[in-house]
Amino acid sequence: GGQTSPQQFEENTLSEVRRVIAVLSGKGGVGKSFVTGALAVELARRGNSVGILDADITGPSIPKMVGMSGRRASGLGKLLLPEVSAGGIKVMSSNLLLENETDPVLWRGPVIAGAIKQFWSDTSWGPLDYLLVDMPPGTGDVALTVFQSLPVDGIVVVTSPQDLVSMIVAKAVNMADKMNVPILGVIENMSYVTCPDCGKKIEIFGQSKLEAVAENYGVKVLGRLPIDPALAAACDAGQIETALPAGLLPDALAACEAIEP
Ligand code: ADP
Repeated sequence: GGQTSPQQFEENTLSEVRRVIAVLSGKGGVGKSFVTGALAVELARRGNSVGILDADITGPSIPKMVGMSGRRASGLGKLLLPEVSAGGIKVMSSNLLLENETDPVLWRGPVIAGAIKQFWSDTSWGPLDYLLVDMPPGTGDVALTVFQSLPVDGIVVVTSPQDLVSMIVAKAVNMADKMNVPILGVIENMSYVTCPDCGKKIEIFGQSKLEAVAENYGVKVLGRLPIDPALAAACDAGQIETALPAGLLPDALAACEAIEP
């Protein structure tokens, strides 16, 4: 809407992507990719066709999570074809283009920006109900590239309790305003641990400040996820599609599904 007209974006005339949702964080390691994967799995389980554009070019972790380790994306002429997971999730990632997935990505800014654009405009996504974008960490230049390259409909912000939550939410709100894209809400990851004996929730980083911060900035809290080592291990083993418990992020799902296609 408003300031940014769709004509400014690179076109992808081949695909019919109905909604694009960007998942962003203030820094790396808070579980942005995990939340992206979890949302994708839940949306797919509900019968939606789902893709993940892994825009975290230098730290790509989506392919491994959905069991695509060692796989390589194929091309069709100038087009890239996304890889498809066992659960039907389509993925494009720098990881699928490297000769060895352990090779570091040493590309400079402009090359990274070019890759992100290609993952949108030169990838044959086909019809998708949802394309989730695993954003590069932070709210800097590379994140801006995403908003300038593809028509993002909504933003999910992922924080952790150790984060400077207020600063991250402020930056996200700022970026969203500038780009004229709504923030769907904030998800706090690694929010607490559940005692294996009594089931009590223990907030090991102290009581969450998220509610207060979210209210202050007028954004919704879309969920809080516990630290779950078993689930993390399953993700490492490429098993997120089978290991993810049902109904983990109901409010986040509802926010995604509320976007008009
Ligand atoms: P980011 O995308 O923000 O860099 P990741 O999603 O790659 O972060 O997560 C970083 C690491 O933390 C991964 O090894 C992941 O499996 C683990 N992790 C993420 N969320 C959780 C969680 N809720 N409980 C346990 N481990 C988690």
